Amino acid sequence: MIPKRLVAPALLFVALFFLAPAQAAPNPAWTKPFPPFRIAGNLYYVGSEDLASYLIVTPKGDILLNSNLDSSPPLIRKSVEALGFHFSDIKILLISHAHYDHCAGSAEILRETRAKYEVMAPDVSVIESGGRTDFNYANDKSMRFPQAHVDRILHDGDTVSLGGTTLTAHLTAGHTKGTTTWTLDEPEAGRTPHVVIVGSPNVNPGYKLVRNPTYPRIAADYRHQFEVLKKLPCDIFLGAHGGYFDLTEKYPRFKAGDKNAFIDPAGYKAYIADRQQAFEAELKKQSGK
Ligand SMILES: [Zn+2]
Repeated sequence: MIPKRLVAPALLFVALFFLAPAQAAPNPAWTKPFPPFRIAGNLYYVGSEDLASYLIVTPKGDILLNSNLDSSPPLIRKSVEALGFHFSDIKILLISHAHYDHCAGSAEILRETRAKYEVMAPDVSVIESGGRTDFNYANDKSMRFPQAHVDRILHDGDTVSLGGTTLTAHLTAGHTKGTTTWTLDEPEAGRTPHVVIVGSPNVNPGYKLVRNPTYPRIAADYRHQFEVLKKLPCDIFLGAHGGYFDLTEKYPRFKAGDKNAFIDPAGYKAYIADRQQAFEAELKKQSGK
């Protein structure tokens, strides 16, 4: 039994532990190294266990999707080099959305590679202000990240091409105003599977979906996102976090020889349906219905 004089401090400690913002104690899986590997064609995984980064290798240089945390660039570089590629060959840097867990490493990677930074229009000011114009976290210093200059402003449906590979940027807003879902078709063993890299369909704790003065159309944007995601043809299901597509469950199967481990159209559909249900439930709760 805990002595009475210790009960209050113990409760306070427990309360602080659970109330602390997630970013104060980042998920250990965000910084845990993960073996880099070729997913299909010229598409490689170079992220950590949960913060996904993708490298697309072409004869004209490489494209990197997601720079992750402030501390991630050395980890990403190590993964790129372990695969036998050069970090300095990265010519274009893209992101899933303008939150620090996907873009805080950008300033450093741009400095090291001199790549061009290409970002969906509504996320550009958030990137260039280091998070100060975020609709939800503008006043939360723990969500800030190093500012970076955007070289090309993307719009819904724009493509990014390099050395024969083309990625398409789909605006799937809600989680941020410029959340981007990337698609590409990867020729592999006589087939060309459709790859979908989901930006984020999640409603963060504290997000106001109703009467949000800094993002009045947030609920409509989420609804639009789900309509877009449901229509995308998907064979290889990927996303901004490994957790979206069960990376830690699929990778061991893949490594053991199941070359189709990431081919998961049913898992993609189920994930989108589950996230839409979570969004609708939260919207209903906030609408008081
Ligand atoms: Zn996010």
